[in-house]
Amino acid sequence: MKTLFSQLPAIDSLLRQADFQSLSDRWGHRQLVTLLRLLQQQARQYIQQHQQLPEWSHNWAEHASSLLEQTRVSGLQSVLNLSGTVLHTNLGRALLAEPAVSAVSRVMRSPVTLEYALDDAGRGHRDRALADLLCQLTGAEDACIVNNNAAAVLLMLAALAPDKSVVVSRGELVEIGGSFRIPDVMTQAGCTLHEVGTTNRTHLKDYRQAVTAETALLMKVHTSNYQVQGFTKAVSEEELVALGNELNLPVISDLGSGSLIDLSLYGLPPEPMPQALIAAGVSLVSFSGDKLLGGPQAGIIIGKKALIERLQQHPLKRALRVDKMTLAALEATLQLYLHPEKLAQQLPTLRLLTRTLPDIARQAERLAPLLQTALEGQFSVECADSLSQIGSGSLPVEQLPSVALTLTPCDGSGSTLLALAARLRTGEVPVIGRIHHGSLWLDLRTLEDEALLIRMITG
Ligand SMILES: *Cc1c(COP(=O)(O)O)cnc(C)c1O
Repeated sequence: MKTLFSQLPAIDSLLRQADFQSLSDRWGHRQLVTLLRLLQQQARQYIQQHQQLPEWSHNWAEHASSLLEQTRVSGLQSVLNLSGTVLHTNLGRALLAEPAVSAVSRVMRSPVTLEYALDDAGRGHRDRALADLLCQLTGAEDACIVNNNAAAVLLMLAALAPDKSVVVSRGELVEIGGSFRIPDVMTQAGCTLHEVGTTNRTHLKDYRQAVTAETALLMKVHTSNYQVQGFTKAVSEEELVALGNELNLPVISDLGSGSLIDLSLYGLPPEPMPQALIAAGVSLVSFSGDKLLGGPQAGIIIGKKALIERLQQHPLKRALRVDKMTLAALEATLQLYLHPEKLAQQLPTLRLLTRTLPDIARQAERLAPLLQTALEGQFSVECADSLSQIGSGSLPVEQLPSVALTLTPCDGSGSTLLALAARLRTGEVPVIGRIHHGSLWLDLRTLEDEALLIRMITG
């Protein structure tokens, strides 16, 4: 064993070799030395356990080089999302439109008028330009942009109802994945939740009876990821606004997704529109930037000027504000809404959601034989009716007809199937499908780069 230990090279002598000098050039001296120390430790452990040198120790340079290459693989790898969910939260939700992508790289490279007004060289307001655009698109008086919609809800509550109570229907106490639960957000914002009604039915009189001197707000929350069916009753925004006006209380609405266009015009299930709530007199409406809007992660609050002013001045706004990249991406995305005729082409989210069934079916028929050839003898490839989802809690009960390629192992073995799924997940561009009834399903609604899929399957 001693002789084995003595065969391990000294780090200094390794570093004098040409191979290691070029590694040091490429990756930096410190990183290389840290790695070599670690490898030496591993080699000693290996010798102790196995009484022989580890396989890789025949070529230290090659082993070190491949380990260093691995550190370069991004934690944010690009993938092919064929999961059937268009806005997949774990895969980063909306894909941005090209103008938004260009806008982000422009503001990254150059100083910008983020809080600088060119006319009087004074300090401008970072949400100003976007607020004007949002007002134009929604008819709201003003707007405020924060990091995400959860932050928007937190800010509305913290700024408008500190130490006060907020009335919400029991049927609307939603939990949105992760840890966003309306009751918890209320606690964090320092307000008291006053639940009214029952899970399935809430009436206007429930809200009226709940209001006391402590009440600061009436709140509606869009039940974006579930639906209560059967014997139900919810109070509409219009009714609640009428009550709010009578009692002099603002009504706020957490819309979650919210679409600035009427999705039913595109043959999609309708989703509430922020501008409709503004028109109904709701004081503040919040929604996400990266759900149906198809932009960057952001929380958008639109509504009455005086209330937005209070949000802008609250200390939490400083903590929750967005950076220039988000503002640039959001501005470029919103500008596309000024030209709605082109939206379904330009906005990837809408483009994918509005793909027609015949279009997806033709794509599946085109691709099936190519994939079959690549997987001949191992898997049978077929076209199958599938259902895509919008995702991110939007319209959870509505599904969009789609077509998937199903890859079924010829030997019927579950391990063959898992091995394929694993190979596709670990490829250069991982392919994300879903396993269902003994096959790997690749839903094609979200496939735009066919050549890439073929390359990843061919391996
Ligand atoms: C998605 C959603 C949220 C959270 O929005 P994020 O942008 O993910 O922070 C809050 N409320 C509702 C109703 C939602 O649908």
